[in-house]
Amino acid sequence: MGMVFCRVCAKQISDEAYACPQCGAPQRPGPPPGARPRKDKVTAGLLALFLGGLGVHRFYLGDWWGIFYLLFCWTFIPGIVAFVEGIIFLTMKDDAWNAQYGAR
Ligand SMILES: [Zn+2]
Repeated sequence: MGMVFCRVCAKQISDEAYACPQCGAPQRPGPPPGARPRKDKVTAGLLALFLGGLGVHRFYLGDWWGIFYLLFCWTFIPGIVAFVEGIIFLTMKDDAWNAQYGAR
C-alpha cells in the first residue's frame, strides 16, 4: 500500500482510497466506500469443485441457503450440483459473472 496526494486538496492519502478522507474528492473509479468486495469467479468455481458438497461456494457468494448443501451433503447430491456449478462458474464469461455475482 502506497501513498498518493489528493487531486483536490493535495493531502497525502492511501493509494487504495476511493475518495479523499479529508475533502471527499473521488480519487479513482471503483465501488464507493463500504461497497461489498467483488466475488472472484475462479475462487467460487474452485470452492464449488472441491468443497461444494458443503456449500462453501454458496457461503462465499453470500447465499444463506448454502446451509442446505451442508444439511444434505450426506446424500452426495449437493456435491454433484456444486460440481456442475463449479464448471459453470469457471466457464462463465466475466461479463455474465459480474452481472450475476460480481457486484454482490
Ligand atoms: Zn482531498
